[in-house]
Amino acid sequence: MSFASVDLDMETVMNEYYSRKLANGKYLVTTAHGSWSVLSGEQFNKLEAGEFASDKIFLRELEEKGIVLTEDGVKRIVDSYRMQYFHLADSRPLCIVYLTSKCNLACKYCHSDSRMDSPELSDDVMDAIVDFIAGMPQKHIALEFQGGETLLRFDALKKFLKLFDKKMRDCGKVVESKVIVSNMTVMTEDIAEFVLDNDIGLCTSLDGPKEIHDRQRSFCDGSGSYDVLMRWVEFFSARGRRLNFLPTITSISLEYNPESIVDAYMRAGAKRIMFRPVYGVGRGRDDAGLLMQPRDYFEFWKKALDYMVKLSMDGKVFYDSAVQSMLLSIFTDRRCDMCMRRPCGAGITQFAFYLDGSVYACDLGKKNDLFKLGNVMSSSYEDVFLNTIQFRANTKEFQPLCDTCVYAAFCNICMCKSYARTGSVVPVTPLDFDCKVNKMMFDYIFEKMDDPVYRSVFEMWMRLKT
Ligand code: SF4
Ligand code: SF4
Repeated sequence: MSFASVDLDMETVMNEYYSRKLANGKYLVTTAHGSWSVLSGEQFNKLEAGEFASDKIFLRELEEKGIVLTEDGVKRIVDSYRMQYFHLADSRPLCIVYLTSKCNLACKYCHSDSRMDSPELSDDVMDAIVDFIAGMPQKHIALEFQGGETLLRFDALKKFLKLFDKKMRDCGKVVESKVIVSNMTVMTEDIAEFVLDNDIGLCTSLDGPKEIHDRQRSFCDGSGSYDVLMRWVEFFSARGRRLNFLPTITSISLEYNPESIVDAYMRAGAKRIMFRPVYGVGRGRDDAGLLMQPRDYFEFWKKALDYMVKLSMDGKVFYDSAVQSMLLSIFTDRRCDMCMRRPCGAGITQFAFYLDGSVYACDLGKKNDLFKLGNVMSSSYEDVFLNTIQFRANTKEFQPLCDTCVYAAFCNICMCKSYARTGSVVPVTPLDFDCKVNKMMFDYIFEKMDDPVYRSVFEMWMRLKT
């Protein structure tokens, strides 16, 4: 980081900036509001020494990037911040509801640690959750069912939605989406018709080809769940409905080629993937054998990214939506991924309503009092809101090392994952897994910007639907 301690003419005002030497020998310079420039060694030395005023072209670039401040530049910076923090004023929260924490699968990394003897949602709590959501001040909301396996309670699902749809209509809310997160193995034709008729989205896990998926996501008797999942993928595909898939990358995945995971997604009709390492929460935490070294995960991701760039260049456009979000944060003021902005979505754009009526700031923090905001049986929205303040204050200025990191404007570490890994909600940077991985990923993306092939593919990915 550098401050304006250099000798410039009276009218030149410097902004704070942060820098990092990239592997290609160039210097990345960023500002807290997220503008950036990649400089040659000569330019960087001029910037550091404050000897750029006579180089009008360079000076103009520094002004445009808000590294040197002008009156117009300050207005642009204010607009940029306004856009980046838009979700604080118009939060459109994702309300996550659990109908059960029972599950018929025994996935190795299950972050909910679901089992068949787990509790279920009662009618009283269901009514109170719907009333609570109806009383929230936000007009636009999204609904998602997570579990356990939601479809084990199809009757409760229908009951909840009947109540929910009526209440939301009565209070004038706009329900932007309804999604069921399901392992798809207890799907039936009746449920499928209900899902299609009611325009409910389906999100499921696909960990790669059969060999990987079955090792990670098996039934309680040890048999794999890939074949039954694929039968339902075909069923919905034949009816014009594409499922959303998410992979979980573990040390098991790393025994295979990352290309095989991308190929499995394409075979299932997906247009994109979101590479994400195992969370280290729930059963993934207990079984340390699934965790990876940051460098190993990064190399795996990098190979997958190179493959997706090649496919896209060959006309088979396929992308990593996490990379797309990173690119949009780098090139625009949008911060699409609630987990890669600060403050993150916890208690702002996400509320999780658990089986006993507890309201948690995030799905990953459920069953942990540190992330509990209240209970629908006894708390008002105002009570819950007051308890979100600690999460709203979770900005980079309060995170050691992030406050001066060159990538801070585009990056975040999840406090729930940090707590699971180290027992601290304040991530231990720079030792934290996410910090190490994020830094390597951003380095690679910025280095590849110099390559015209990668640059054109990155630009194409940014134009695709988020
Ligand atoms: S707590 Fe973690 S998982 Fe939850 S919204 Fe924040 S970053 Fe995302
Ligand atoms: S988490 Fe790490 S890479 Fe991200 S901003 Fe903080 S220090 Fe930088």
